Amino acid sequence: MKVTQAELVISAVKPAQYPTDALPEIALAGRSNVGKSSLINRLINRKNLARTSSRPGKTQTLNFYRINNQLYFADMPGYGFARVPQSVKAAWGRMIEGYLSSRERLCGVIQLIDLRHPPTRDDRTMYDYLKHYDLPTIVVATKADKITRGRRQQHLKEIRKGIELDPSDPLLPFSSQTGQGKEELWKEIRRLTEA
Ligand code: GDP
Repeated sequence: MKVTQAELVISAVKPAQYPTDALPEIALAGRSNVGKSSLINRLINRKNLARTSSRPGKTQTLNFYRINNQLYFADMPGYGFARVPQSVKAAWGRMIEGYLSSRERLCGVIQLIDLRHPPTRDDRTMYDYLKHYDLPTIVVATKADKITRGRRQQHLKEIRKGIELDPSDPLLPFSSQTGQGKEELWKEIRRLTEA
């Protein structure tokens, strides 16, 4: 996919701020530091539109990027920060739950999981949650360049097993460093948004 236009439209803190032009939407979920900003930047060929290394504790927002006037990426706050106070966690929890359960044009979710390690408990909880709401999910295994070719299948298997991946959901190795997996991921995004 050739991206000619990509802009951050709104960093929303409440539903009234979500875009209303009804383009198809794909949300992105993953624990903090999994490589979510790097993946967005790689997909849209920008160095730094999605900020990398967002710090814990700062305002958590749902960031909407409009791509080619064709679709939105909705970048959800990274999960799994131990240091975030319970009250703050509960507030995003409600916002994200409301979003995932009732957003009309949400076509699916990209869930990022670090290929180097087995899925965390938070990764499993998030995936269960997406399946509970019947959301088509593309699981992306990030930082694939850090795992040698020979060991990659074994690591993918660990992810598949660890989250009990639904056979209808794709699992794609991806590297923001090398661009590996980019075209395959766009293909899966188009499958969901053009369905
Ligand atoms: P986020 O918190 O999920 O948005 O994660 P970032 O995109 O900020 O990435 C966290 C760290 O992992 C940064 O130091 C990135 O440079 C690094 N990183 C992200 N993706 C990759 C990748 O595909 N390969 C490698 N080697 N490092 C990556």
